[in-house]
Amino acid sequence: MLDEKAIFATINQVETLSLRAYGMIVNGFREDKIESRVMCKSTIKFSSDSYVHVLANEASRSFAFKASTHEEFNRWQIDFRPRLREVLGFGQIEKRGLCDLEPRQLSEKVFDAYIRQEWTICTEPGFEIPFFVLLPKGQTMPRPLVLTPHGHNKSGKDAYVGVWHNESEKAEITEGQRDVALQAVEVGYVAIAPDMRGFASLRRKQDIDEDNAKSCPRLQMQALMFGRTLIGERVWDIGRLIDYAQTRNDIDSHRIAVTGNSGGGTVSLFAAACDERIKIAIPGSYFNTFEDSIGSIRHCECNYIPGIMTMAEMYEVAGLIAPRPFLALSGRNDRIFPIESAKYAYKKLREIYEIAGAGDLCQLYIGDGGHRYYKEPVWPFVNKFFGE
Ligand SMILES: [Zn+2]
Repeated sequence: MLDEKAIFATINQVETLSLRAYGMIVNGFREDKIESRVMCKSTIKFSSDSYVHVLANEASRSFAFKASTHEEFNRWQIDFRPRLREVLGFGQIEKRGLCDLEPRQLSEKVFDAYIRQEWTICTEPGFEIPFFVLLPKGQTMPRPLVLTPHGHNKSGKDAYVGVWHNESEKAEITEGQRDVALQAVEVGYVAIAPDMRGFASLRRKQDIDEDNAKSCPRLQMQALMFGRTLIGERVWDIGRLIDYAQTRNDIDSHRIAVTGNSGGGTVSLFAAACDERIKIAIPGSYFNTFEDSIGSIRHCECNYIPGIMTMAEMYEVAGLIAPRPFLALSGRNDRIFPIESAKYAYKKLREIYEIAGAGDLCQLYIGDGGHRYYKEPVWPFVNKFFGE
């Protein structure tokens, strides 16, 4: 049993807990002694629904952007980027050793305007990731590369190269403009469309057998036990795909863009923040505040990074991409990434880009629709910065 002093110490330590949790402590000890403190706390109106906002307001983010000069901005990035990579779990992945890529080509199919190859590489010891490479015909090689990580869907990389397996997938791809890799090759770029961990062939066997769309929850929990995150593992795979791209003489690895929708937007944003080899980042249906999107609205378990809100808000993670061109795609009616919060996050990110001397390179496109990809601004944006 704790003594009274210890009770108050405990209360102080947990003062950000919900009122419900507070009551459990109160009921276990001397309610008369701590009633006044509870009454005081009750004015904050803790509840399970407002919990995240109370914590966000109180959080002192260690990499909150405060720079006012270009020099301070540079120092902030230099300090923040390795810490971000660490909380994503890169250190734990690196401890396993950097394996040979061991590329294996599985197939090649020739279409009128492009060639589609399927490959695998090893991204960490014993782990192979499958991906498509789309090569444009009639172009002088090497060509710039567009990496296209996909979001939550059962067929993984297939959707991004325009391959559908039933009518509902066909509608999802065409109506949501999700054939992002196909779009890239049609405008003349090499595209790499990988499966992301937890989807398609990278699901757990049980999920494949039961025809479940994803294995995110189990894979995320396993990753967390080892100081890793599923976002970190997916971003790591993107880095290894860039290593692979640098071995191909048909890819200009000095001109690399990344774009994907929803979960693919997540990977796009974090990959560009972590890896400066990526020169353009275009996250779709993701850019927002952590607080108002994944913090407040039901999202897949794979979205969460332990401690991220004690380090940075999403616009500060995206600030690591500055001064490289950044274009966020947001749907006016996206119910899981609210548009008003996207606008606020953009305002904050634009401030970082201004200090970086690149305000014009930070853009937000608002599409008249929901949670989907918006291709209209994407390819002119990429063409402009790749000098096409
Ligand atoms: Zn997920």
